Amino acid sequence: METIIALSTPPTLSAIAIIRLSGKESLELVKKVFSGFKKEVQPRYMYYGILDTGKIKDDCMCVYFRAPNSYTGEDMVEINCHGSVAVTESIIEYFIEQGAVMAEKGEFTKKAFINGKMDLTQSEAVIDLINAQSEAQARSAYSQLSGTLYNRISDLQKRIVTAIAKIEVSLDYPEEEIEETTKEESREEINSIKDEILALKNTYNSGKILREGVKIAIVGKPNVGKSRLLNSLLGYERAIVTDIEGTTRDTLSESYQYNGIKFTLVDTAGIRNTDDTVEKIGVSLALREAKECDVLLHIAEAGEKFEKVETTAKVIYVENKIDKMPAVREDSVKISALTGEGIEELKKVIYDTVCKNVTVGESRINNLRHLNAVTLALANIERALENIDFVTLDLISSDLNQAYRALGSITGITSEDEIVGEIFSKFCVGK
Ligand code: GDP
Repeated sequence: METIIALSTPPTLSAIAIIRLSGKESLELVKKVFSGFKKEVQPRYMYYGILDTGKIKDDCMCVYFRAPNSYTGEDMVEINCHGSVAVTESIIEYFIEQGAVMAEKGEFTKKAFINGKMDLTQSEAVIDLINAQSEAQARSAYSQLSGTLYNRISDLQKRIVTAIAKIEVSLDYPEEEIEETTKEESREEINSIKDEILALKNTYNSGKILREGVKIAIVGKPNVGKSRLLNSLLGYERAIVTDIEGTTRDTLSESYQYNGIKFTLVDTAGIRNTDDTVEKIGVSLALREAKECDVLLHIAEAGEKFEKVETTAKVIYVENKIDKMPAVREDSVKISALTGEGIEELKKVIYDTVCKNVTVGESRINNLRHLNAVTLALANIERALENIDFVTLDLISSDLNQAYRALGSITGITSEDEIVGEIFSKFCVGK
């Protein structure tokens, strides 16, 4: 197997950069040019020395990881050098000349998966963790990385296997009575499995909030204070605030965090009839945003009527400028975007409206591939339940088997042996 190499930090000017090598030759390759690695190199110790490739010299710190105790499960070396693009490129070039191969995207994690260092759900979580943009996203990805999703789904697989095993055993004893009791018992268990799969499927939606955050559109007539509200929520001046109608022509989009969740605000051009072409585009964008967002902040001046807006999003009514005039609605959040009064309260209301049932630490499915697999498993389980009174048990067993396999495409456990093993270990009657 070849030794791969890659820059693990961003390819830009920085104080320090990390280059990683993974594969059998890693240590030997680095030893040749790094003065810190003398004869005996202790794994997991950081050594200081000079790395001299002939073309470039740099003060470096290097760590050796001995297989299988490394990220990829292979021998690895991490070189901490200075973060100049010229230095890192030249070092990588040298090792490639010596026989190392440039790693492909995700190859270190792929090796970790192949070498049994992590399961599929964990490998995918690494990507989520790297891409996380909010604290909640990072916490959720880390929870998946530590195997909670894997445990939850493999537990479900175990329950399905046990249900299959019960059926298979009863097939060896084809008396009608046994078939009836088995059906009764199986129905109950399959029902409870269905509930758990459904609960798992539903975690995708709350996961979506953690992954992508909450999209909020601010709509309302011109000059009601949309831009000022955006600035107040963000805590800095992002939008231009004027009292000339139509100042915000395009849509702006900026984010803030609340309780670790990312909220993206979209300030819109305001909804009104206009002849200005640019502003017209803005207005149609506003209407589209109003349709696509999760939360619609519908803002009006205190005491004024609210325009009608079509949306499937959760609507929060906001009466602004309470420093100037009194609010009248019972169901509105009352604020002054000018003085900041009511802004914290509004943030809390937004959070409670969409995030109340989102538990950050919970294991959840985070991507479409998982959602499809869980949906398929659910369909098979539902089919088994619908048919249980009308078909023979071997067909039910086959549906369960397919549900098992669908879930297996997430955990990577798909082998028949697991099913067979479970049958013989628990249910082999009298033998
Ligand atoms: P937009 O067209 O809806 O984005 O409105 P702007 O945010 O540009 O605000 C229009 C005008 O209303 C500006 O002069 C703001 O200073 C003023 N304004 C916004 N919010 C408040 C508020 O809470 N109280 C008062 N008194 N004036 C406000």
